[in-house]
Amino acid sequence: MSHSISAAVLHELSTPFRLETLTLEDPVDDEILVRIVSAGICHTDIKVSKGYAGVPLPVVLGHEGAGIVEQTGKRVMTLVPGDHVLLTFDSCGSCPQCSTDHPAYCDNGQTLSFSCLGRHRMSPLTLNSERVYGNFFGQSCFASHVISNERNTVKVDDEFPLEKLGPLGCGFQTGAGAILKVLQPSSGQSLAIFGAGNVGLSAVMAAVIAGLDPIIVVDKNVKRLAMAQKLGASHAIDAGNEADTVAQIHRITGNIGVNYSLDTTNSPALVRQAFESLANRGSCIHSGGGGKDLTFPGTHLLHGRSVQGVIQGDSNPRVFIPQLLNYYRDGLFPFDQLLSFYPLAEINRAVAEMSAGQVIKPVLQMP
Ligand SMILES: [Zn+2]
Ligand SMILES: [Zn+2]
Repeated sequence: MSHSISAAVLHELSTPFRLETLTLEDPVDDEILVRIVSAGICHTDIKVSKGYAGVPLPVVLGHEGAGIVEQTGKRVMTLVPGDHVLLTFDSCGSCPQCSTDHPAYCDNGQTLSFSCLGRHRMSPLTLNSERVYGNFFGQSCFASHVISNERNTVKVDDEFPLEKLGPLGCGFQTGAGAILKVLQPSSGQSLAIFGAGNVGLSAVMAAVIAGLDPIIVVDKNVKRLAMAQKLGASHAIDAGNEADTVAQIHRITGNIGVNYSLDTTNSPALVRQAFESLANRGSCIHSGGGGKDLTFPGTHLLHGRSVQGVIQGDSNPRVFIPQLLNYYRDGLFPFDQLLSFYPLAEINRAVAEMSAGQVIKPVLQMP
């Protein structure tokens, strides 16, 4: 049997998404048919729609889906129809990284996320019998229904609102994981966050949970700085007004520098500032998207400082997403304050408003 579904299709790079009715095949083996309720839009979707990673076309993007299981392949053991689920990045489960609890660094992750080819067939999607590529991050969730895999489908408790959950599968676990999973700081240590988008602001929430102090946030968008302070940041630096951000961070920390810094901007100048803000033996996390050459002063590196690249917060989503949801239930991870909702049909407006910095995290609601 096959299913008639709605999806936003990218036919050519750098063109608007077009809403189409596609045919979706049944799930096989370890695949799962999920009816999508919400799908976050991530900057990676926008970069890919302009040519990053060279995905085949036409394609359905989207990698922050949440929904309800409708059907499962024969080999699926842990999920049944009716389960509420959150979709996240895909991983192979058998490489050295997956085997040691680091699926975000799966040796096959790049292929599984960006080849848009399924494990069992090229794609489950067609438009008038012509192939449309799916399987983007093992999901392609800018659609009413998707085929996911058991490995990238995380069961969540029915008590949580599916219409809000999508973005936990990428953006929010990235920022929160950078703090709670990678840095694992001690209470009272200091942190500077560069960029107050969804990754930076989820890092603020995680930093509050971890008891960091001060929590300094740098951005040039004053509305986002206000949001950072509302979420618990102790200091906001307006990079548009402050001539010397690094000096300001040193002033705030009694001329020592911060124990940790996190760059979410992917601007080489700001990554350098994040590094230069560090105290001796401090760690800077670069989680800003990659693809650019970065430079650091070598003498500064000598004093035990380090720079580490991080994707997906080095999260094991099956463990970390339920943890984040528990924090959300307890009022400690109010990620829903950062969401703006759009119907799927208005995906192009959502992308435009995200690109213009007018909204922090757009979430598509499915028909
Ligand atoms: Zn993403
Ligand atoms: Zn792997």
